[in-house]
Amino acid sequence: MALPRADVLQVSFHAEAGIVKICVLASSSSGNATFIGTGETRILVDAGLSRKELFKRLGAIGEDPGQIDAIVVTHEHSDHVCGLARVAKALGVPVYMTRLTAPCIDWEQHEPKLETFQAGSRFHIGDIEIESFTVPHDAADPVGFCFQAAGVKVGLVTDLGYIPDSIKFHLRGSDVVILESNHDVEMLKVGPYPWFVKQRVMGRKGHLSNDAVADFICMDLDATTGTLVLGHLSEHNNYPDLVHLVATQALRRRSLNSRLVIAAPGAASEVLQF
Ligand SMILES: [Zn+2]
Ligand SMILES: [Zn+2]
Repeated sequence: MALPRADVLQVSFHAEAGIVKICVLASSSSGNATFIGTGETRILVDAGLSRKELFKRLGAIGEDPGQIDAIVVTHEHSDHVCGLARVAKALGVPVYMTRLTAPCIDWEQHEPKLETFQAGSRFHIGDIEIESFTVPHDAADPVGFCFQAAGVKVGLVTDLGYIPDSIKFHLRGSDVVILESNHDVEMLKVGPYPWFVKQRVMGRKGHLSNDAVADFICMDLDATTGTLVLGHLSEHNNYPDLVHLVATQALRRRSLNSRLVIAAPGAASEVLQF
């Protein structure tokens, strides 16, 4: 496809000093992890990479893994937790997850410092306030999060079959929304997955299509959202350029100037600072 590539794969070392720093370290069907930090607190959301690769990507954005304060987990699917046991063991930091998700993790004989919460609850880690909310996905008790610190609100929701009104409500007022744009429906239909997997992905507890994201942008994206990060792209049923094109068209239809960042599979996104 001869569409222009977005310059989203570059890791910026030159961002102006900001208070809240965000980087999607990995985002795809084969691995997910996001860094959110302030001057005081540093959080990892999910650990779906090997310990070695995760620490390498943290180092590449100037973060010392030893300075991470906590890991927060969305759900137990392996693309979100495959490195969790080893990363938690290496860092010795608390791991926050819902009570129903905790028993689904293979801790590999490690005793984690577990901090369980109920989906829908709010809690603090250092100076970051975290709001959790239930998402429609085929896991034990999957959640999305809104993070607030220093007057900046970041909504993070991937792995969901559709966007219910309750999630649209939670995302309102976000300065940054990190949202799944998993597949192109036509590519999925003719793609390599067995039919039952295609049905799962397209189902109400599966994953969001590019078209579903376009509908969200056209109908519900808050004008306060200055940056929209699209991630969790399928490596078989999507292209970063296609995600960029569909979302850009939707933003134009809404006359929104939100900055669009595509978290492409295989590399960290650029570093966002506010
Ligand atoms: Zn999942
Ligand atoms: Zn996933």
